Amino acid sequence: MITEHLDTTTTIVAPATAPGGAVMVIRLSGDRAIAIADRLFRGRRPLSDAEGYTLHYGHIVDDKGETIDDVVVALFRAPHSYTGDDIVEITAHGSEYITAEILRLAIEYGAVMAMPGEFTRRAFLAGKMDLSRAEAVADIIASDSRWSHNVASTQMRGGYSAKLGELRGELLRLSSLLELELDFSEEDVEFADRSTLRLLLDNIGTQLTTLTSSFALGNVLKNGVTVAIIGKPNAGKSTLLNALVEDDRAMVSDIAGTTRDAIEATTVIDGIRYRFIDTAGIHQTTDRLEQMGIERTHRTMSNASIILHLTTADEPTFEDVELGPEQHYVRVVNKIDTCAKDKRYDSDVIPISAQRGMGLDMLRQHLRALVDTSSLNAGSVVVTNMRHYAALKSAHEALGDALQAVDNNLSGDLISEDIRRILHHLGEITGEITSDDILHTIFSHFCIGK
Ligand code: GDP
Repeated sequence: MITEHLDTTTTIVAPATAPGGAVMVIRLSGDRAIAIADRLFRGRRPLSDAEGYTLHYGHIVDDKGETIDDVVVALFRAPHSYTGDDIVEITAHGSEYITAEILRLAIEYGAVMAMPGEFTRRAFLAGKMDLSRAEAVADIIASDSRWSHNVASTQMRGGYSAKLGELRGELLRLSSLLELELDFSEEDVEFADRSTLRLLLDNIGTQLTTLTSSFALGNVLKNGVTVAIIGKPNAGKSTLLNALVEDDRAMVSDIAGTTRDAIEATTVIDGIRYRFIDTAGIHQTTDRLEQMGIERTHRTMSNASIILHLTTADEPTFEDVELGPEQHYVRVVNKIDTCAKDKRYDSDVIPISAQRGMGLDMLRQHLRALVDTSSLNAGSVVVTNMRHYAALKSAHEALGDALQAVDNNLSGDLISEDIRRILHHLGEITGEITSDDILHTIFSHFCIGK
């Protein structure tokens, strides 16, 4: 694992847009950003004379004095910038050659290539945002549906940072009071009244429970709802999968490592991404490689939020299926176009014809109704990040210990120790308590230039 502490005194450079577009943005950040840009850029006047929040038209000139491109430069002066340092953003034409030349020149004049996420890491280190908000920047870039965007953007704008800050403040006050008792231990005084303390801890426990239990929904919003389509061969599983994803068909793909039959396709239904898995790959085989693939499909199935069981109208019976505790089960009869129109099915069965597109809207509505997003409409905070979830769980455990310590009349310093553990775990989320290793892991998942 890389544990190096990134040098924040250098001036970094990186493209901030993906290749292939009509224009491309190259970003410089650091003490020397303006000086370096002035060596590349010829405008009406030097950038070093210009104020922050200004745009400048001009051209990029290489080290031999040749013009490379016409550009627009945006200037941000410290501390009023994303990273808190001086930032220059050069918008050039989207040519790989131009990009490479601007990068080469910037590096020649003293900049270093930025690591993935380094701009955001600097913003975090400069106190521009806490860690949970910095992480949301990556989530917002990756968001691909209305609700995944909604929760990432709420989080980026503060999300539960404020709430965690409040909880931490309250806990800090409690632990200081408890630690004060230690200084007066001869006198047997209680600065922190135990029943008030218990009430407060209970209240914090409730808030932690609300946050941790929101993760089930948060995870679904961020990663999509997995729907495993099961049923006998020829029931129409792959036809249904293709019909459900319609124009998104380009997204039909093999699940890495499974047999060629198991495919996954995703589509958005009313703001939520669904991942449909056609489990056709599950069959008896002696081929070791195929068996491994099938095992993986089984695991995906057992992790699926929804099991969609498909049979056909000529034989609408459903053999028993073993479900996990949190799994939803949806029974669907396919090929209704082959039967009499007035044929009746059980009331919880959804009749469709995957081939003719009949009943698919009803199926979509049914699948969408299984994800309860009413709390989002009410503006509730939702935890989407696995790391935050783990930290909240640990905080909750420490809180349980603290409550037990209060109930068992343990001394203030022991209770305070548990409270400090809660504080530690909450601090991991916002980044008050963190290590270079953790920062490296988080920011290495960012793209270059963010
Ligand atoms: P799978 O083995 O469960 O994936 O089934 P397929 O999707 O390959 O479908 C098996 C056959 O049933 C194909 O010939 C499909 O064209 C046909 N089929 C699928 N859905 C329908 C439907 O709604 N109506 C009719 N009549 N045929 C269908």
